[in-house]
Amino acid sequence: MNTGPAATNNPAASSAPSSANSAVATTATAIVNIASLVTNDPSLGDGTPLGLIQDAAVVIDGDRVVWVGESSKAPATDNRVDAGGRAVIPGFVDSHSHLVFAGDRTAEFNARMSGQAYAAGGIRTTVAATRAASDEALSANVARYLGEALRQGTTTIETKSGYGLTVEDEARALRIAAEHTDEVTYLGAHIVSPDHADDPAAYVALVTGEMLDACAPYARWIDVFCEKGAFDGDQARAILTAGKAKGLHPRIHANQLSYGPGVQLAVELDAASADHCTHLTDEDVDALAHSSTVATLLPGAEFSTRAPWPDARRLLDAGVTVALSTDCNPGSSFTSSVPFCIALAVRDMGMTPDEALWSATAGGAAALRRTDVGRLTAGARADLSLLDAPSHVHLAYRPGVPLVTEVWRAGVRQYAGSGH
Ligand SMILES: [Zn+2]
Repeated sequence: MNTGPAATNNPAASSAPSSANSAVATTATAIVNIASLVTNDPSLGDGTPLGLIQDAAVVIDGDRVVWVGESSKAPATDNRVDAGGRAVIPGFVDSHSHLVFAGDRTAEFNARMSGQAYAAGGIRTTVAATRAASDEALSANVARYLGEALRQGTTTIETKSGYGLTVEDEARALRIAAEHTDEVTYLGAHIVSPDHADDPAAYVALVTGEMLDACAPYARWIDVFCEKGAFDGDQARAILTAGKAKGLHPRIHANQLSYGPGVQLAVELDAASADHCTHLTDEDVDALAHSSTVATLLPGAEFSTRAPWPDARRLLDAGVTVALSTDCNPGSSFTSSVPFCIALAVRDMGMTPDEALWSATAGGAAALRRTDVGRLTAGARADLSLLDAPSHVHLAYRPGVPLVTEVWRAGVRQYAGSGH
């Protein structure tokens, strides 16, 4: 079944012979024999939010999906890929990571798992290591974790600065991030720089002034860690408002470690996303439900800090749009695995397997205000994963098992696991 103008106009979906049709047919690729296909288009397939089509095919031309539907009805194409009865899902959209860093925090994790509490100050360890690292080392580190994420099915990833905390080091982090992804976030306000520990107001002035000027050209987003020990509500408002004036769009680390003003501020400023949302009042949930701000849940952080889980069920039941992301960072969530986060969300946060899959794909796209990714319908970017399983449910049913066996991004097979 075709799904809109892009498919209707595409010669590959037409049976009329023409030179245009021939030209496309040589390049179009049909992935057929898909046991179950998640489209995230509720008008397709089973009519659920996942728009699940059984015994399906996906046709890709260039970097785009041009047709999805039942395998038996797939248009003729020169290139055919047999999915072998595996499931196909949209590439994960990981809307929250911190990949521009050096060093690790193994000792801190080990100590925490031996009984110490997590505090925001551990970030300083990574700041020192990041400042000392070369551009090449930082870039190689980003590439390494992006590759790791890709092999686990992530095809779109947001990443942040926040371990430089000087004008030069923050701008450098963003320049390096922008070499690897389009979704770059300026997080000069991760913590108050150790250089300004005695004068947080001066640091806020720097973040909203000279540092913002140096960073804005490389970033799409501005973020702030609104938390006790980091930035309070007024500081966060000043920082995000200054970013908006420079053309950056806000997203917020909100209500992670304690109740606070972050979520309300996110809604007030029309932030694309309020991230963490672990400690929420009824008023916070209600504000999110009546906004276009996505609640991005990051269960890797709660896992890695032995903290209480965010209540995804409460948010979903209130009508909040929920995204699931990794928060990949060396301190509080050193995982690049969206499948792991899905398993946690299903096991411990009250999400169904369908909801968790939606949140890790379409939800992540919503948190980045993107409509070209997070779905597999005509016109979408051809980002998808094949799972060594007949259904996406296996991502939660078989936790820790590397089920992603093949990943396509922008119509190109980027990863094919061993044995396939
Ligand atoms: Zn984070």
